[in-house]
Amino acid sequence: MAYSAQTMRQARQRYQAQQREREQEADRQRQAAYAAEPRLRALDLRLRSTVAQVMASAFEKRSDPEQALRQAREANLAAQAERTALLAGLNMPDYLDTDARCSRCGGTGWQGQQLCGCLRAQCRQVQMDQLASLPGKNEPGFDSFHLDVYETRTEEKLQISPREQMRQVLARCQDWAARFGPGSPSLLLCGGTGLGKTLLSACLARTLTMQDVGVVYTRVSAMLREYENAQFGGAERPRAYEETQLLIIDDLGTEMSTQFTNSVLYSVLDSRLLEGHPTVISTNLSSATLQQRYPPQLISRLLGQYELLIFFGRDLRME
Ligand SMILES: [Zn+2]
Repeated sequence: MAYSAQTMRQARQRYQAQQREREQEADRQRQAAYAAEPRLRALDLRLRSTVAQVMASAFEKRSDPEQALRQAREANLAAQAERTALLAGLNMPDYLDTDARCSRCGGTGWQGQQLCGCLRAQCRQVQMDQLASLPGKNEPGFDSFHLDVYETRTEEKLQISPREQMRQVLARCQDWAARFGPGSPSLLLCGGTGLGKTLLSACLARTLTMQDVGVVYTRVSAMLREYENAQFGGAERPRAYEETQLLIIDDLGTEMSTQFTNSVLYSVLDSRLLEGHPTVISTNLSSATLQQRYPPQLISRLLGQYELLIFFGRDLRME
C-alpha cells in the first residue's frame, strides 16, 4: 500500500463526503427542476427504463429485437434532447451532470486492486495538508529553497563556499526526487541548526507527494512517542513508519535517548533498508557525535548505508 492507513482513511472520508454533497446538491436541483417543469419527471423515468426492458418486451411480443432496440435508442435520444432543451429553457443546471460519478471507477475510488485517479488525487491532497506546517508551502517543488541566502566566501578548511556546497546538495536532492523509486539510496542530511535541512526535507516531501508517492514526515520524538505508546500504553503499534514508500525523520539526535528508543530506531531503519524503502534523515549532529551517541549496529546502517549530504554555513535564521 502506497499511502499510510491514516492518509487512506482521511482521503476516503473526504471523498465520500464530497460525493454526498454532490448527491444532495443534485437532489435539490432535481426537485427545483421538477417543480418548474413537471414533464422532466416523466422524461427521466423513460430514460431510466433500460434497454434490457425494451428487449424483454420485444421478446414477449415476438417482435424483431433489432428493430425494438433501434426504436428504444431513438426514443431515448429524443427524450434526452427534450430534457436538455427544457433545462436550457429554464436556465437550470443538469442535475444528472451534478450527480455524475467518476467514469473510470463509478465512484468507488478503485479500479480492481488499483487506486483510481479520483481517490488518488484526494490522497495527494490529504498528504499535502499533513505537510502544511512545514516551511515553504507556498512554492511548488524546490522553489522555496533559495541558494542566494548562503555565503559565497570559500571556507578555508573545506575549500568550498556554503553556496556552492548547497547548490550541489540541492541538485542532488532534485535528481534523487526525479528518479525516486524502491531501492533509491537513503539520505542523511547533516549540519548545524538553521541551515535549511527541514526546508529541503519539506521540498522533497511535497515534490514526491505530487509524484503520487506515499510520504510520511515526522520529527524523531513524535515517531518514538508512538512506539512508546504502543509498547507501554497499549496503543496499536504504528506501521506507517516501516511501510511508507518514503519516510522523512527530522531532527535525529534531539530525542531522549534510551535503550528502547535506540532499538526502535534500529528496527525502523533496518526494516526499511531490507524492504528497499528509502528514508531521509536530518540531524544537527556531526558524524563523530552520532558515533558517540548511538550503538554500533545503528551507526553502521546510518553512516554505512546512507548517502551523506553536508549542510554548512551560518545559521540563516540569525540573518
Ligand atoms: Zn475514479
